[in-house]
Amino acid sequence: MSQHRIPPTPNNFSVWFSYAVGTSPALRKTIDILVANKRKFDSATNRGLYVTYVNPLSDGDDVPEQLQGVISSARQFLATAISDNRTQIEALGEVSSECQAVSDPRPIIEKLVKELSNATKRASSLEANFLQTSGELDKIRDSLKLAEQHSNTDALTGLANRRALEEYFRSAQIAAMETGEPLSILMIDIDHFKKFNDSFGHQVGDQVLRLVARVVQECVREGDLAARYGGEELMAVLPGAHLESCVGVAERVRHRISEARLIRRATGEEISSVTVSIGVAQFRLAESAEAMIDRCDRALYQAKRSGRNRTITESDIEGEVVAA
Ligand code: GH3
Ligand code: MG
Ligand code: MG
Repeated sequence: MSQHRIPPTPNNFSVWFSYAVGTSPALRKTIDILVANKRKFDSATNRGLYVTYVNPLSDGDDVPEQLQGVISSARQFLATAISDNRTQIEALGEVSSECQAVSDPRPIIEKLVKELSNATKRASSLEANFLQTSGELDKIRDSLKLAEQHSNTDALTGLANRRALEEYFRSAQIAAMETGEPLSILMIDIDHFKKFNDSFGHQVGDQVLRLVARVVQECVREGDLAARYGGEELMAVLPGAHLESCVGVAERVRHRISEARLIRRATGEEISSVTVSIGVAQFRLAESAEAMIDRCDRALYQAKRSGRNRTITESDIEGEVVAA
């Protein structure tokens, strides 16, 4: 890798490890051809090799590699600036010693003007270099932001994924303990979801899931979090909400979903109505996330047992909890 000036990033290591071990004859052949043709292993080539032979599901973006590029051009940029500076100081030093020896100031002034013009040219080229480097840094920052967004988002519904939910939930609990503000959650499960998959296929099942996700997202306030908890279960975390206001949100979600008309894209036919069951729980001081989710889950289970398409809260099942 160092022979071909390939930055030592995780993606590049995977490619060259595979080359060295010989796990992919096609990769080996491609690299041998590239080497034989003295092709440069630039970042596009490296990315192409990674996506083609190591991880086809990745977009191949290797942020460390981009960073290596920017760091090395920034280093070059600094080295040029330092050496230019030194040259200029030396030139000025020469002019200053000539000053003492010469009586006619004109050649000295000419020399000074020339040095000044050289310095201006150097400053402009350094500025252009600086602008290019900071543009590259902006691009890296954007791609890091995008990567972070991807790692927190559920690809099918566009809601927060389980990972992001857990993180958000943890900080919401801490904030609730600090401020004494209430915190409630609702857990939503699509009724007879299997039926949509079985009768119309998985694509329609996915369409139903996306519809429910959109409604949940639209019903919560800014600052609340709507997330996909698991397969066809969604969750919303509502900081500042008491159980009653959380029930209000849950009922709004439930009504809007039961009223929505879903058209099957392939045939234009209307799909039989979608309903959801919802469990609601409110945070109790210092309890664990698991304990709260478990209460919410039991309320949801009760909603299913008592006929589906309804909202049940933890207080509705309190008697049952005591008896259990
Ligand atoms: P219930 O009213 O009791 O909730 O019945 P249900 O059919 O919704 O529940 P069940 O747990 O039996 O089935 C859930 C189904 O959800 C089974 C699983 O294949 C499907 N599923 C989970 N994730 C996805 C997904 O991302 N897309 C699709 N199309 N189906 C999914
Ligand atoms: Mg379920
Ligand atoms: Mg279900």
